[in-house]
Amino acid sequence: MSNNNLSESVVKSMFVAVQRGYVYRAYPTDEVKKYFLQCFGAGRKMYNLHVDRLYQYLESIDYQIGERIDTKELKNKIPSVAEFKKMFVDSDGNLYLYNVDAFACNEAKQHFYKALNEFNKIAFQKQFKKSALKRKDTMGKELSFRDLKVLPKFHSKKNNNFSYTTFNQNGNIQINENILTLPTAQKSELREVKVKLKLHRGLPKDSLIKNVTVSMNANGEFYVSLCVEFALEITDIEKTTIILGLDYSQSSFFVYSEGKKANYPLFMRQAEERLKQEQKKLSRMDKGSNRWNKQRKKVAKIHIKVANQRKDWLHKKAFTLAKRYDMVILEDLDLRSLSQNPDYAKKQQDNGFGNFRLYLKYKLEQQGKIFLKAPRTFPSTQLCSNCGFKNTKLKGIKNINIREWDCPKCKCHHDRDVNSGINLKQYGEKHIHEKNLLVSYLLKYKGFARLPTVSSTD
Ligand SMILES: [Zn+2]
Repeated sequence: MSNNNLSESVVKSMFVAVQRGYVYRAYPTDEVKKYFLQCFGAGRKMYNLHVDRLYQYLESIDYQIGERIDTKELKNKIPSVAEFKKMFVDSDGNLYLYNVDAFACNEAKQHFYKALNEFNKIAFQKQFKKSALKRKDTMGKELSFRDLKVLPKFHSKKNNNFSYTTFNQNGNIQINENILTLPTAQKSELREVKVKLKLHRGLPKDSLIKNVTVSMNANGEFYVSLCVEFALEITDIEKTTIILGLDYSQSSFFVYSEGKKANYPLFMRQAEERLKQEQKKLSRMDKGSNRWNKQRKKVAKIHIKVANQRKDWLHKKAFTLAKRYDMVILEDLDLRSLSQNPDYAKKQQDNGFGNFRLYLKYKLEQQGKIFLKAPRTFPSTQLCSNCGFKNTKLKGIKNINIREWDCPKCKCHHDRDVNSGINLKQYGEKHIHEKNLLVSYLLKYKGFARLPTVSSTD
């Protein structure tokens, strides 16, 4: 295999197949809107049929809490999607599950089993929903498997489960100018599904639409999320010279190894403050009343606005970093376990560091630059970036409040986050050669014969 001899100096760029998500606001006509709602409804129905059969099954086997559910056996007890479709007629006697995109029903089944697998992973933990535990405490209501966390539950219209996904088959999903054409069902009254989109930015050149998710939010606004595949040229940068270590920070989102802080914008906190107020108002109103409904929509609107502002900020920040630096190193934070720590949880969940990491990764890699996570075992917080002394007094979440410290060995004074950023930078400098993206691609895929796929969403 002579390909193994390829080096940076020979190959300057290569194409990789990249999949990426693009979300657009959609403006369906009333007719198409009706069809979309039918698709959402059919998916929900199919999901609920599976949940219903699951509960019947669990009762029939006298399911004991803590056990895994035997999905193989369950599959034998649940009718196929085609069989379910034959069972249901609407008030006019139509087999209405046939009127919608076939994928809407199939996807519901996939989602159901995915949820069930998630449940099986934690079944042994015997975790119950908070609301169920409360009911037990206050009303003495016994807990059953229906109260278990993560076990698939019935989807109701109130839960905002308004979406369905369809896949491109032989080019039946297309986009022309700003009109998206989607497949319909043979038995649907609708002969074609065409939707106008607000294309605030175009799709990459020569991209292929793989699948589309249509969704409706709490305000009744429609969105489509297109997953597209395209060839992206990755160019190698001559030299990796400008390196950044980046430390996650509670108060300012992250801290640069140069000492700067990425200040989380104030406007977002203000919006969050307002959201809190409006939510408080909502909680005081009579549930189901006209005023309550109006207020609920108001709250939903602020939620959407805050989410959009945050996403926009994260993208811009990631873009700026990817433009300026050749390599960025950050710690491989376990965001999930952090979010389970009550002191951390609230803030960490809504500031979107996980998404930021993802945006930064693909924005760097598409320029042939390097994104590196230092392993969890690397003690970036505890090491003195000046002499290398390991200060175990800083270890663990309980010592998170030590913001500044002096190295007992070299007496150097440190800001916790900045020191950690410098350590990450030094880690990156040491491991730079292992991480040349282009070379690692070439070795992995033995040249250009097969295109690797890099997946990401934005
Ligand atoms: Zn020191």
